[in-house]
Amino acid sequence: MNKIALMGECMFELSSVKDGLLKQSIGGDVYNTAVYLKRVFPSVDAGLFTCVGHDSISDSMLEQFNAEGLNNSLINQSDNLIPGAYLINTDDEGERTFVYWRDNSAARQVMKNMTHAQAKNLEDVDMFFFSGISLAILPEEDLSAFFELVTKLKSAGCKIVFDPNYRARLWQTPAKAKQAFEQSFELSDLLLPGVDDFKQLYQLETGQQIQAFLASYSIDEVVIKDGPQMVTCIKGSQTYNIEITPVNHVVDTTSAGDSFNGVYLGARLSGMTIEESVKLAAQAAAIVIQYSGAIVPKQSFTLSRPA
Ligand code: ADP
Repeated sequence: MNKIALMGECMFELSSVKDGLLKQSIGGDVYNTAVYLKRVFPSVDAGLFTCVGHDSISDSMLEQFNAEGLNNSLINQSDNLIPGAYLINTDDEGERTFVYWRDNSAARQVMKNMTHAQAKNLEDVDMFFFSGISLAILPEEDLSAFFELVTKLKSAGCKIVFDPNYRARLWQTPAKAKQAFEQSFELSDLLLPGVDDFKQLYQLETGQQIQAFLASYSIDEVVIKDGPQMVTCIKGSQTYNIEITPVNHVVDTTSAGDSFNGVYLGARLSGMTIEESVKLAAQAAAIVIQYSGAIVPKQSFTLSRPA
């Protein structure tokens, strides 16, 4: 097993530096996940399943995907839309706020723009990853086509992986999010939620309550993240509680969950055990939160892999 498709949106990022200057970059939960996966597991074939435009921002995004070693064969291009964007403002206390322009982004049209070649290239993926953000950006009328695609991949033996990554403001109502999430739980083989996702949407507070809630679905592997608290993994009848070493000086938690997911998936695709995979993923997330921004410079990101 070594080919994974990750469905979601990559956006143009602008962050305030000083004196009105803005630094440009790219980011988005699924893109961040793909980058960290590929950095730690270069032999895994990882590609974004997304849509960009024909503009200069899209061109530089595609170049950056290439530079990160991602496979661009699952990307389609819109004739008239461009990528979404966001601005990160940091106040004097270091608190970050985000402003988005993504309502009409190319990535939202990934299902409508799907090509025959893209569908063909999806046929042999071993793993398909998407998040609650990937679902939230799809126009409502495209959700059924998306779930049909996931169902088809699953019946062809592809492992389906979902991270609910709940963002209330992206959904018209919590009920719509629940409906899409529950369809995703039905299809998932591997679930990578954070405790926060369930707290906000289902008022469940602990790993145990989440485990009980998920018992009615037949999800083979569940990995529950909870910031610096222990990670709870459930595989069949076994439960593993894996301690996390808290980071003392957290700089920015952006991408903690994304880097964890990417490294966890790369590790599992490469045959590592659940415990080894969680430890490596936690090591990655611990580095990421000690830097500002979603993507840590390559030279600062080295992990010690188990022998
Ligand atoms: P999300 O970004 O999805 O909310 P979490 O905050 O649960 O994700 O964090 C994901 C992972 O990042 C955790 O399981 C843990 O491995 C790591 N992590 C997050 N916060 C800390 C912290 N303060 N110290 C050490 N590790 C952390």
